[in-house]
Amino acid sequence: MTPLGEILARRIAQNGPISIAEYMAECLMHPQHGYYTTRPVFGSAGDFTTAPEISQMFGELLGLSLAQCWIDQGQPDPFVLAEPGPGRGTLMADILRATANIPGFHAAARIHLIEVSDRLREVQAATLHGHDVTWLDSINALPDAPLFLIANEFFDALPIRQFTRDRQGWREHQIGVNNAGLVLGLSAPAPISMLDHRLNDTNPGDIVEICPAAGPVMDEIADKISANGGVAIIVDYGGWHSFGDTFQAVQNHKQVGVLGNPGQADLTAHVDFENLTKAAQAVSVSDLVTQGALLERLGITRRAQLLATNLTEAALESHIGAHRRLTHPDEMGTLFKAIAVFPINQPPPPGFTHDA
Ligand code: SAH
Repeated sequence: MTPLGEILARRIAQNGPISIAEYMAECLMHPQHGYYTTRPVFGSAGDFTTAPEISQMFGELLGLSLAQCWIDQGQPDPFVLAEPGPGRGTLMADILRATANIPGFHAAARIHLIEVSDRLREVQAATLHGHDVTWLDSINALPDAPLFLIANEFFDALPIRQFTRDRQGWREHQIGVNNAGLVLGLSAPAPISMLDHRLNDTNPGDIVEICPAAGPVMDEIADKISANGGVAIIVDYGGWHSFGDTFQAVQNHKQVGVLGNPGQADLTAHVDFENLTKAAQAVSVSDLVTQGALLERLGITRRAQLLATNLTEAALESHIGAHRRLTHPDEMGTLFKAIAVFPINQPPPPGFTHDA
């Protein structure tokens, strides 16, 4: 067992089973043994690759969409340019490079990164060398100013709870311990008021997930945008409505068992965009769009062609592959989705629609 596995097994033996949310929080963020706090997680040497790590085009196009909103909203100065869960800082670096020639944008931007891992804060500082950056522990510490925020694969790292419906109520998936190590089990059935709305579209035996932290975070972002203006673009993998078991562990670019190596594998779950949309009060929320469609609307094909003119051989192959990975339905194009949150009297950012 990993050192964190030993710690959790001892805790469970003393106090009883823990929820998946508690397990996930410890595995990802334990100060000494957590995944994000201790490991070089990104890129080919790490365990997984995110869209900004695949190609600079992702951050460039989304950054320009944000900047267009800033212009449409009268170029507020100062404004907060924020990113929760910035990973290596690549997305923010690409946004800043793409917006460098927009008059007044950099001068007005107050860059804020929301990151809990000290180790990743150091990596982000190196990537964003030369920029004035403030780090915060949580969204609610952001200053009161127009907020232009982007989050990619942030919500999928927030801890989830999982439940199986049965005839008497919901049984929570929990982690216990036996001689073989950590094991999954089910609590006794109980009514769960947060899941009342799922009684209509599920049957006994079905699994649903909730992410208790996601709604409050979204609510805070929406509050700031409704009070001060701005926009938030949220990109993640998942769909409209959580259904089934989406809790997964990835290590060395491969899917592994969720209980196998606590603290040494990345743990994520699909993001429930319906939940995020419902939590965003007093603002408009765009229609849900796939990452592929969003990037196409923002002009990724033209941008890819332009970048390709300077490339040959292996670099060109890899660039073509990156375009495909970001947009193709068999790759990230449809699994990843996005919404934008913006003030009620404003149009949605470029790339997004708003039918309601
Ligand atoms: N957005 C980046 C990285 C995504 S990985 C990219 O696209 O490449 C998830 C990031 O969220 C990591 O930086 C991790 O440390 C951070 N994170 C996870 N939970 C967090 C929390 N509760 N608060 C702030 N940051 C968190």
